[in-house]
Formats: sequence, structure tokens, C-alpha cells
Amino acid sequence: MVVFVVKGLIFDIKRFEVHDGPGIRTTVFLKGCPLRCFWCQNPEGLKLKQEIMFYPERCISCGACMATCPRGAHEIRNNIHVYFRDKCENCGRCAESCYSGALQFVGKWMNVDDLIKVVLMDKPFYNASNGGVTLSGGDPVMQYEFSYAFLERCKSEGLHTAIETAAYCRWEVLEKLLSVTDLIMMDIKHIDSEVHYKATGVRNDIILENAKKLAETDKPLIIRIPIVPTVNDSPEAIAAIAKFIQSFKNLMFLELLPFHRLGEVKYRALGIEYPARNLKTPTKAKMQELIEAAKKFVTNVFSA
Ligand code: SF4
Ligand code: SF4
Repeated sequence: MVVFVVKGLIFDIKRFEVHDGPGIRTTVFLKGCPLRCFWCQNPEGLKLKQEIMFYPERCISCGACMATCPRGAHEIRNNIHVYFRDKCENCGRCAESCYSGALQFVGKWMNVDDLIKVVLMDKPFYNASNGGVTLSGGDPVMQYEFSYAFLERCKSEGLHTAIETAAYCRWEVLEKLLSVTDLIMMDIKHIDSEVHYKATGVRNDIILENAKKLAETDKPLIIRIPIVPTVNDSPEAIAAIAKFIQSFKNLMFLELLPFHRLGEVKYRALGIEYPARNLKTPTKAKMQELIEAAKKFVTNVFSA
């Protein structure tokens, strides 16, 4: 008998997280996202494939990567390390040989058995804090077969489960994940579909339809809005989203998350221009103004 083992491509596992749902949690970040928000703080999670990240400032010019690479993608000239990304076939060998951390291979294929072992190490902490496990990304809907298999295993181990998603997928995918998920944390970026398209690369029709369907379930729902200058940092934009969700009976709260530039260094490491380089983090006064706008429609509004 052939046994099919589903695997997930994971780019990070964060233990002892306290911002991704209730209690102490382990957050598992899956690669692949259907959106291309230009301010994304996890650009290494966008593509559903393994990638090399290169931090030249950490390179000690030891030459190990040059000796290892079968494609001649690394050269050191006059003490300057040049990485030819177009020659790279993402085999990961150079990163294995780099002890300074200048080269990192992002994305590890794991099966459910391997991942559950990592997650169960902290079960006593989940139990003591009403915590659990959160699937994030990227977006867990991109690898939904693995997401389902892993969340199902978490449930069989008695763990609380949560997913963070933009809900840009077929409803059947979300519905299946819901059957093994205790809490949904969903992003909404803008009510206007044209603005949404310009900012994220996709229209919001599917997202808003899925939000309405999620609101008809009995699963606790947290809506999150990333506050991004030039996109949605106006009281009108935030009030429109708050008005849209005001009748959601399973809404626990609305959370406003201010844009920050912590992801900038990762864009450089991936060889991508940082599209949000001209944006600044919203001030506390601006965030308060937006909270007040949302509170006209939703009682529980918080900001990170
Ligand atoms: S990942 Fe492989 S092909 Fe790419 S630079 Fe490293 S060793 Fe060369
Ligand atoms: S192996 Fe790492 S430290 Fe050595 S030359 Fe390559 S990138 Fe630099």
C-alpha cells in the first residue's frame, strides 16, 4: 500500500508567541501568499518555493560558498562578495556551508509528524495559559491540504488552533479549515475593490464574501486591519470596514496594526526593491483617530 504523506513548506516557527491569539502560542509560518501587498513585512513568505537570502554585511569572505556552488553563483572580487541570483537554482548548498549566517536557505519541507513534535514541546505552556498553535504565513490557505492535516493533528492532541488569513480562496477551502480551527484572525485591507487591487494585486470581492460567510459560523473571529499610509490611513477608510463588520455576531474585536518597516532588510536579502520605502509608521495620534472612527460602528477596537 502506498501511503501519501502531505508536506508543508515552512519558513519560520516562533515559539512563545503572545500576539497571535490567546495565551502562549507556537506560530507556524507557511510559505506562499495569493496577495502581493506592497508593504508586506514577511516577503520571504510570499513565494511557494525555497529561496536564498543573502546578508552581505555578515559575510567574512571565507569563500566556502564559492567552493560549494555548482552554478558559480558566488564570486568574491576585491573583498566584495557578489551573488548572481540569476545563476542560482536554489539548491541550498551554499547556505549549508556558510557559518557566518550571510547566506540563509528559506523554506523547509516538513511533514505533520515532524512539525507536531516541535509544537508539542510547549504543550505545558499552552495548557497553563489557554494558548495553542497558530498557522500563519504567507497564508495557510495556499497549502490548505497540509494546513488541514496539521490542524487536524493538533486537535487530536487537544490543542487550541488558530489561523491568520486574508481569506482569498474558495469558500470550500476555508470551510474545511474551519472544521479543525478554533479561532479565525482575518485581515481586511480596504472596502473599495479598486484601491484594494492597486495595493495588494487582487480585488476584494472574494475576501468580503468569505468574511460574510465566516460571520455566519459560530467560530470566534478577529478582524485585523494593517494601517498603511497612502492606502487606508483615513477615518473614512477605517469606518467603512468597521461598518461592514458591525453586524458580525461572532466578532471578538477589531485590531488596527500600524505599518512598520521591520521587513525592509529582508527585501534587500531577497534581492527585491523595497516598495514601501517612502512610508512612515503612523503616529499614536493617527492611530487614536482611526480607533475613534472605527468605534462609531464596533465596540471593541484595539491597536497593537
Ligand atoms: S543555492 Fe545552490 S545554486 Fe544557488 S547559489 Fe547556493 S549553491 Fe549555488
Ligand atoms: S560562505 Fe558565507 S561567509 Fe563565506 S564567503 Fe560565502 S557568504 Fe561569505
